[in-house]
Amino acid sequence: MSILIYIDQAEGHVKKASLEALSYGSALAAQLGTTAEGLVLGASKDELAVLGAYGVKKVHQVSATTLDHMDAQVNAQLVADAAKAVGATVIIFSNNLSGKAIAPRVSARLQAGLVSGAVALPDTSNGFVVRKNVFSGKAFAQVEVRTPVKVIALNPNAYMISKGEGSAEVSVLDIAPRPSRIKVTAVNKVSGKVPLGEAELVVSGGRGLKGPENWGLVEDLADLIGAATACSRAVADAHWRPHHEHVGQTGLAIAPNLYFAIGISGAIQHLAGVNRSKVIVVVNKDPEAPFFKAADYGIVGDAFEVMPKVIAAVRKLKGLA
Ligand SMILES: Cc1cc2nc3c(=O)[nH]c(=O)nc-3n(C[C@H](O)[C@H](O)[C@H](O)COP(=O)(O)OP(=O)(O)OC[C@H]3O[C@@H](n4cnc5c(N)ncnc54)[C@H](O)[C@@H]3O)c2cc1C
Repeated sequence: MSILIYIDQAEGHVKKASLEALSYGSALAAQLGTTAEGLVLGASKDELAVLGAYGVKKVHQVSATTLDHMDAQVNAQLVADAAKAVGATVIIFSNNLSGKAIAPRVSARLQAGLVSGAVALPDTSNGFVVRKNVFSGKAFAQVEVRTPVKVIALNPNAYMISKGEGSAEVSVLDIAPRPSRIKVTAVNKVSGKVPLGEAELVVSGGRGLKGPENWGLVEDLADLIGAATACSRAVADAHWRPHHEHVGQTGLAIAPNLYFAIGISGAIQHLAGVNRSKVIVVVNKDPEAPFFKAADYGIVGDAFEVMPKVIAAVRKLKGLA
């Protein structure tokens, strides 16, 4: 029995969400008196041995050029085969875009119970009970997993990264990916921008900004602090911003360290996509705006007066003014 943690990469670099999954999986291994091992699919530009500092003794790697583009069906087959090869009984993913696509497929392949959206270590004192988010983060459920093999997808930002000492043994796992049923014909990247799904800092605008011509207020702050930009659905529906920037229940769900919301009301459907952010700052001229209830810091004021002052203050802080 051991724990296998799927290490998700973006362009060959280990994602922060995977460091959380590694820390979580290693803590669970210690709790269960077993070992935690990592699994990387595809080539890595990072030194994988350093992942030992997050508690894993071993990192298995399956390398094949066909793995350069994420294909959930192929990756699920590889993770399931790897889990069988190493005798893993708990498989951990981050509940990010890749994890959401791969974990359910792995669970089906291994006939394993799946908990997606886990927010805490399982209670193993009497069974295997995992706390997870439900109703778009409005409530929690305790889910008991009764199958011999278990799959957990950990919500980003739900578990603190814990880094210590040590290095991991890196070994190549001899498992062949099956041919993909899809062919990637083109990849169009938004160059020079921080990808929203992975961003640590996000500046976002809502209908309170009145029109696309005022987005300089969002972009100036985002550029200054190296943040990605996002928007409410109302804004994307009005074609002020592209739909890939829309966050919320029907848009992207994000979990940055900072979510800076300007002129957004904080409707429940918007909050569903951003309420896992570590720190939420809200600028809204209506003191009764629902977003203030979810905010860590709030500024009641007109964005057109407040934001130039915020931007000037950040510029000064950075020694640019
Ligand atoms: C099924 C369903 C799914 C949905 N999914 C999503 C989703 O995924 N994401 C999402 O965002 N929405 C979603 N919505 C829409 C959601 O309910 C809201 O309508 C939307 O989030 C409102 O966007 P907004 O806050 O930008 O605009 P508004 O509701 O118009 O709010 C604008 C805010 O700006 C403030 N404001 C106005 N002027 C200023 C100023 N000068 N300075 C500062 N503040 C100002 C106002 O006080 C107000 O709070 C969904 C709705 C449904 C029914």
